[in-house]
Amino acid sequence: MLQLFMPLGFLGFVYREIKSSMANIENLFDLLEREPAVRDADDARTLQVEHGRIAFEDVVFNYGDKRSIINGFSLGVEPGTRVALVGASGAGKSTLIKLLFRFYDPVAGRITIDGQDIREVTQESLRRHIAIVPQDTVLFNDSLLENVRYGNPAADDDAVREAIHAAHLDDFVSQLPEGLLTRVGERGLKLSGGEKQRVAIARAILKDAPILVFDEATSSLDSHSEQAVLSAFRDLAQRHTTLVIAHRLSTVVDADRIVVLRDGAIAESGAHGDLLSRDGEYARLWWAQQARETVPA
Ligand code: ATP
Repeated sequence: MLQLFMPLGFLGFVYREIKSSMANIENLFDLLEREPAVRDADDARTLQVEHGRIAFEDVVFNYGDKRSIINGFSLGVEPGTRVALVGASGAGKSTLIKLLFRFYDPVAGRITIDGQDIREVTQESLRRHIAIVPQDTVLFNDSLLENVRYGNPAADDDAVREAIHAAHLDDFVSQLPEGLLTRVGERGLKLSGGEKQRVAIARAILKDAPILVFDEATSSLDSHSEQAVLSAFRDLAQRHTTLVIAHRLSTVVDADRIVVLRDGAIAESGAHGDLLSRDGEYARLWWAQQARETVPA
């Protein structure tokens, strides 16, 4: 999902980066070669977000082959709430997020934000209103300060510092040889998975979009790092309508609603306690993960 962060004016920088570095080169070529699958309607309007309510209405989708991936998915995400998407690998969680960003259009049904069909608004305005914390954050060969500023290139240094503080990165920064001016990325300091995710959270804080998507890392972070990521994320999520793709159920037990996807449709949905007491698919996934996490490696 690198392209979500990639305003067109940034491509010159990207080319310079390709010339000067081998960092993430596959991702960058992927980005540059990507044909747009959708285009703005001729009369596309600017998305207006007052509350940030998301609605998936009977959404059906496939990737162009016969296999149906999303099968009549309906979900309302109320403003300011946190909804977790969980389910087996391949159930369609990432696909739903790609549809929300309008990388593809549904075959049937629609997705609205505050009542506006996302096919009727410009992609630029749609993506401006959504911040994403991806699984794997791309760092450019530049200082930590500039890497965070990427969330909002117009932000001044104080705003970037505040975002870094709010993303629980102060302790990390205080240990760096040149503080915020320390160079990171392929030719600089390597960051751990948890530190990179907190950089992504700091970028999302700076972007200050009303809708937030958090794609939890599949590989587990060490528990200290995971707690730092989760508490930074929870602070941020309080002020946003939030969708989380969760791989570890323990990280979303306090979500307002957990949606269990199976074959592109909702198998079950509810709060953690309700779902556990129903003793269905969620309870099975929960107990299976608990068993795995308590067995010593
Ligand atoms: P995971 O937890 O492993 O990330 P997921 O629930 O996010 O899985 P998706 O990535 O949405 O699942 O994939 C749903 C299905 O769509 C899978 O069977 C996958 O192989 C297929 N799929 C995903 N992307 C594409 C694509 N670009 N072209 C064709 N099929 C795809």
